[in-house]
Amino acid sequence: MSYHTPRRSRGSNFSGLKLRLLIAAAIVLFSIVSYFAKGQTNPITGEVQRVSENVNEEIMMGIQAAPQMGQPSRDFQSSTVVQNVGARLVNTLEQVLRAKGIENPYPFDFHLLSDRNTVNAFALPGGQVFITEALFHHLKQAARDDYEGCIAGVLGHEIGHVLERHGSQRMAKGGLIQGIVGAAGVAGGGHQSANMAAYVGNIVNMKYGRADELESDRWGVELMMLAGYSPEHLLTVMDVLEKTSGGGGGPEFMSTHPRPANRREYIQSIIQEKFPDGLPAGLH
Ligand SMILES: [Zn+2]
Repeated sequence: MSYHTPRRSRGSNFSGLKLRLLIAAAIVLFSIVSYFAKGQTNPITGEVQRVSENVNEEIMMGIQAAPQMGQPSRDFQSSTVVQNVGARLVNTLEQVLRAKGIENPYPFDFHLLSDRNTVNAFALPGGQVFITEALFHHLKQAARDDYEGCIAGVLGHEIGHVLERHGSQRMAKGGLIQGIVGAAGVAGGGHQSANMAAYVGNIVNMKYGRADELESDRWGVELMMLAGYSPEHLLTVMDVLEKTSGGGGGPEFMSTHPRPANRREYIQSIIQEKFPDGLPAGLH
């Protein structure tokens, strides 16, 4: 059995295609215009950035997406360590910002995830920060009594991603690409629907560029140092990442670009820059 499709006249077929191409062109134009209209001044760094959301939207989206990021750990004691180290870093951050007359807009939250296989830590835009039990225990094993300093290095780095709004910058770039992909769909007679949850979920698997990682390492070193942790613990974190990278580690912290070895060099150069005469006593 076959359906007979009424044959359209050559004219209407042609104008249908023309209309689709016109709509596709409008979508491309719209995504390009809105991408370049997205310039916002970062409240912390003062840098003008292309981001998809304002700070309040980042916070809302992060809080909404947080429960989808994985099972919370049932290890109450370790979760408390993560929350306390995080709170100490945020406290330090707020002091630094207040001295510059800036109020911290982000309600930071620190979560230990029950995942014992994936060595990873990541942050959602707006201040939701996550570390897996796998990374937590590797750090504890490697650094023993000093492991809280390592946790501080990891969380400080993730706080850096939030403050620099790296996730939102990536999303803005993603929006540009998605708009153009959507236009291709319209031109081909198809349609595309954006799934916000999947979109936010993408951030977890996002690989930041080298510049973003180093920028966040700088925040990590500064915050941990000011909070009283020796910044050298971040070097231990790099050792652990390098050792575990064969075991299918997570994408954010395990991002091979830049490799932990290069980051180690960079971290050492920041420490050298801050303390040319060696680390002060009293850090732990
Ligand atoms: Zn990172």
